[in-house]
Amino acid sequence: MINLITAPRGTYDIMPDRALVWQWMESTIRQVLLSYGYGEIRTPIFEHTELFQRGIGETTDIVEKEMYTFADQGKRSITLRPEGTAPVVRAYIEHKLYGVAPVTKLFYLGPMFRQERPQAGRFRQFHQFGVEMIGAESPVADAEVILLAHDLYHQLGLTDLEIHLNSVGCAQCRQAYKTALTSTLEAVADELCTTCRLRLDRNPLRLLDCKSPSCQAAVSKVPPIQDYLCPDCDHHFKGVLALLDQVKVKYKLSPKLVRGLDYYSRTVFEIINHDLGAQNALCGGGRYDGLVEACGGPAVPGVGFASGIERLLTTLEQKGKLPELSGAPQLFVLPLGEQLTAVAFELATSLRRQGFFVELGNGTKSLKAQLKSAHKSGAALTVIIGEDEWQAQQVTVKIMGDGSQKRIAAAELQKEIASLISPLGKKYQ
Ligand code: AMP
Repeated sequence: MINLITAPRGTYDIMPDRALVWQWMESTIRQVLLSYGYGEIRTPIFEHTELFQRGIGETTDIVEKEMYTFADQGKRSITLRPEGTAPVVRAYIEHKLYGVAPVTKLFYLGPMFRQERPQAGRFRQFHQFGVEMIGAESPVADAEVILLAHDLYHQLGLTDLEIHLNSVGCAQCRQAYKTALTSTLEAVADELCTTCRLRLDRNPLRLLDCKSPSCQAAVSKVPPIQDYLCPDCDHHFKGVLALLDQVKVKYKLSPKLVRGLDYYSRTVFEIINHDLGAQNALCGGGRYDGLVEACGGPAVPGVGFASGIERLLTTLEQKGKLPELSGAPQLFVLPLGEQLTAVAFELATSLRRQGFFVELGNGTKSLKAQLKSAHKSGAALTVIIGEDEWQAQQVTVKIMGDGSQKRIAAAELQKEIASLISPLGKKYQ
């Protein structure tokens, strides 16, 4: 027996019915982001590994243990993109967009790859959309980006999500905080989990979001990062909060929110749906003022977010906000006998060219069998072409909903159909 080959762990197939939901989701996201002035960018699925090492940070979980990295035939190290910001920044620099306009607004949507432990809401191939506003320094940009995520979710009907906010300061104030963190936590190093003991030297900020109770207890003794913000960072953060207050958007200050990626500076945020369970962040983002320069570009600030599409769909499903979608044909054309196949084929083709979604029956099957297929497909109408009828240049139109049917002249068919249903697609020749 040959072993059955299944989709790799942490991946899944999107089957046709589900794909309808994805198409709706993707087009809704695109529409909203375009309406907020973001242009779509499509970067490669794989990049040079170095981009993520520089752009995400060597000491992050993603770069340390989650990337799908391999050598290509030319022995170059290649990585399947684990996130979208570094590739967008690479393209921004490569295409010298900083020379085109002072502020560049881009969005992306597509698959990302991380070798994480699969669980509910966490996959190895998953999808994100995200926005990047590059070149804007003011707190207005941070507030705009947070509001964009908030408004997009609102437009989809999600009105009870929580925005969690923090500032991780700039390189200078963060350094002072890291020193304070390390010295406080070194004294209780024995109480930390093994991962955090290693993090203590390399990236102590990451201890703040460790879920282990003993690490959380240790961290609670450390003063919040807000106490260490330099005047500029403090002013910036207060500016963001004031703008959100101005438009009456609620948020929670979350002093332990640091986010996984090294390149964040100042504002960081997450939007949470508590009903999602352990993996409850719908989106995460923040400011990354040093990233463009770290990737070889000019010193240009940036701010953005990435939102997981799987978790967004689960949330919409939980809250009953997904639209009813159907991939059913509008019409089924049934030839009764093989000799009528060409006639039915011609008719189906002409109806399709008028924009109707049409399915063609199998003329070698009985009327009963074909009607069963038509019912199962969900078609609203069937057009039955029988031998005797066709001799008289007539066809039968059956309304599937109530089973009523009527025999009409073939020449009248288009008019009859148009009086019953409207084409879902575009007319073409
Ligand atoms: P991150 O890029 O880690 O900040 O993640 C941003 C968003 O992407 C998260 O809030 C999730 O919605 C989603 N996400 C991240 N990792 C995964 C994953 N492994 N599976 C599914 N969604 C994910």
